[in-house]
Amino acid sequence: MSATCIEIDLSRIEGNARTLRERYGARGVEIAAVTKGVCGDPEVAQALVRGGIGALADSRLDNLARMRAAGVQAEYWLIRPPRPSQVERVVALADVSLNTERATLRRLAEAAQKAGRVHQVILMVESGDLREGFLPAEVARAAEDAASLPGLHLRGLGTNLVCLNGVIPTPEVMSAFSALVEEVEGRVGRRMETVSGGNSGNHGWIMSAASPGRVNPLRIGEAILLGRESTRRRAIPGLAQDAFTVVGEVIEARDKPSVPTGEVGLNALGRRPAAASVGDAMMRRAIVALGEQDVTLHGVRPRIPVEVVGICGDQLVLADRAGRLHVGDAVAFDVSYTALLRAMTSPYLAKRYLPCPPAEAPEDRVRNPLHFGAEGL
Ligand SMILES: *Cc1c(COP(=O)(O)O)cnc(C)c1O
Repeated sequence: MSATCIEIDLSRIEGNARTLRERYGARGVEIAAVTKGVCGDPEVAQALVRGGIGALADSRLDNLARMRAAGVQAEYWLIRPPRPSQVERVVALADVSLNTERATLRRLAEAAQKAGRVHQVILMVESGDLREGFLPAEVARAAEDAASLPGLHLRGLGTNLVCLNGVIPTPEVMSAFSALVEEVEGRVGRRMETVSGGNSGNHGWIMSAASPGRVNPLRIGEAILLGRESTRRRAIPGLAQDAFTVVGEVIEARDKPSVPTGEVGLNALGRRPAAASVGDAMMRRAIVALGEQDVTLHGVRPRIPVEVVGICGDQLVLADRAGRLHVGDAVAFDVSYTALLRAMTSPYLAKRYLPCPPAEAPEDRVRNPLHFGAEGL
């Protein structure tokens, strides 16, 4: 364990991908693995492909470019609606893109024709979470339009829940989506090959639904990378929750009063801090060389029994009641999905890939019963 870094256990990521692929596969549903949580890290992408994943999906073109440049062989999806100014790059880097604007579709068609390619598009449908998507009443017209544009191939429809407003993909919502797909097929006059029905928030639904309806495939990031579904951030049995470990080095360890002295206003991040009072006089506090620039306050959980009490841009403060930490020690943390994204984005955290240990049955592993609350987002 070398401080300060993020350790990435590629074999656990590969194992999670394989396990989920088998479980969903038994229900007739494939996976497009979402790599935005790791900024399109090519080592992680390669581990996903080893785990049997055939499509890699990311919200940013730069991440797709990074994986392609590293030679990772997969179908590439852009899952954020394309920026109209970037359509040439979209056509060059993505085999498939998710779309919600007819003007952008027309520009994509022109760019594809100019490049001598056929670009595949999935039209996203708004199902209640109020982020991206055509309204259900608009989608048939848009699909007819997209199907008629030279340079484009209308590959299918998609929807996305849980993301902005936490709307849960219930059986009712998902059945309505499948029914809409069939209505659009009637209007366009052919079957939609790809019906991309959701993300890690659909895990509970897919494992318990009587039938996935028309959905195939799901776009899955968090459930593979961190082994958790995302409606309540519950750990998925049999998956590793600890493929990623953020490690920070202790730069100060000292007994201090447990409550601040003096008049208290807002702190460096404009927040009103909650003191971790122990009531009595002194408490050991340890400062770790990590900050909001590398992780998030609610998105890190120490793997030893110490408590996160606060964070600034570049210092993370722990309450260490048992006094176990000393200056120079390394502290390991589990991360939430948001803290993972922050850590992978931070240029200050070295990325360390663990050499693949011999395969072990996930059931035999001591697992961290992680459960981040809503704030862990
Ligand atoms: C982020 C994202 C996903 C993947 O979400 P996870 O919760 O990581 O599974 C899927 N689809 C879209 C459109 C996204 O933006």
